[in-house]
Amino acid sequence: MLLPDVLGTYSDAGNALILAQRARWRGVRTRVLDITATTVPPASCDIYLLGGGEDGAQVFAADWLARYPALRHAMSTTAVTLAVCAGLQILGQSMSDRTGHTYSGLGLLDFTTIAGRRRAVGEVLSTCTIPGVGQLTGFENHQGISTTGDDLPPLGWVTRGVGNGTADRSGHRGDGACTGRIIGTYLHGPVLARNPALADHILKQATGQPMPPLDLPDQRAVRRTYLPTRHPTSRGTPATDARISSVDVSQHRGVVDSGSDLAGKTIRRAP
Ligand code: GLN
Repeated sequence: MLLPDVLGTYSDAGNALILAQRARWRGVRTRVLDITATTVPPASCDIYLLGGGEDGAQVFAADWLARYPALRHAMSTTAVTLAVCAGLQILGQSMSDRTGHTYSGLGLLDFTTIAGRRRAVGEVLSTCTIPGVGQLTGFENHQGISTTGDDLPPLGWVTRGVGNGTADRSGHRGDGACTGRIIGTYLHGPVLARNPALADHILKQATGQPMPPLDLPDQRAVRRTYLPTRHPTSRGTPATDARISSVDVSQHRGVVDSGSDLAGKTIRRAP
């Protein structure tokens, strides 16, 4: 887990626990390392995880990561990386904040982020572009609006919520980005707690071994809580939910003071 002390606002470190436990249940030995800002990151990990955080923390994290070219090399050649929200933005080409200042990302993804007019806050559903993973559920809380390059598929096609906040040429709205080695998403939850099939996909990629199914009643209950009973049959269409085709937080359940980051703010829950 990279920088849990800096990018820890949204409990995305839970993704490391989920991966470790699901691997252990399959007899795969695991060790979770918390690589904090005062540590030199090893370049030999099988999986790297990055979480979300405030704009300032994100700029610090981008500078910190840029200091370790061996880590960057491992992320693009040997390891599997899951990056969430700020973590995802950092792996892209650049990020601009609300004042228009642009910061460089690590350049591992053809993914560019600018600050949107409004904050996207609420539940998200998408149809994962990785075969067999199915629907993804999570919550989002971000101001960034991201554009993916033509050759970079999103992690999911959004059927509810905002995700990247942009659409492809046919009007399909994506969340995150997905390459053979890097999986990026705006979804918190932690995303792997809500989406065990995505966790198993990452474990399969990292170990080269199939992951036999696990039957966990609690996990099934979590999925039932968040997923609609009627499943979309194809990727989300622009008409799926016209109310959220633009970045409009008013249609979302949790509302955070628009124009500011999460830290120190009150989250109001709609009834
Ligand atoms: N600070 C970034 C944004 O608002 C990322 C937020 C997050 O990680 N949830 O877009």
